Amino acid sequence: AVAALLGAQRVTGTLHCSGLSTRGELACTTTTSGLSFKIPGRVGDSPIVGAGLYCDQEAGSAGGTGRGESAILANASFTVVEAMRRGASPVDAGLEALHRVTRQARRAASWQPGLVDDAGVPAFGLQLYVLGLDGTTAGVSLRGGGKYAVADLEGGPRHEPLVTLHAR
Ligand code: ASP
Repeated sequence: AVAALLGAQRVTGTLHCSGLSTRGELACTTTTSGLSFKIPGRVGDSPIVGAGLYCDQEAGSAGGTGRGESAILANASFTVVEAMRRGASPVDAGLEALHRVTRQARRAASWQPGLVDDAGVPAFGLQLYVLGLDGTTAGVSLRGGGKYAVADLEGGPRHEPLVTLHAR
């Protein structure tokens, strides 16, 4: 509402970064939410370990941008890393978490109208960025396309396409 009053765009600027050293050390971070016009006091998922970011030296790393409430509810980054621990590839692990987010949104839509569209697709965005222990990466998106940035010794810095769960 404030954004509408000011005629401003509701810009976002949150970043997640996962890194793997040549010695096999894994680390990640997510900037505190860059969402504009946040409700005062709202924390969002970005600083919550498990929701906006998670990494485990034994399994892999993940983080997200988009609707933080959905990432918190699904413990999205932890869900991704646990899927990799069970042997899933980064892209399959990311999509598994987005399927969970979709199921949760469909249930919550009964008391939060507008959370999913007429086709049952979540009406919000969530992107997850995933790094496996072998350096394999993936970026997955609930809806809408886009790109994520990768830099490694073999390919240098570049953009890769996000894999969209609900392509329309
Ligand atoms: N995930 C952030 C939040 O919900 C927003 C963002 O990614 O821009 O606070």
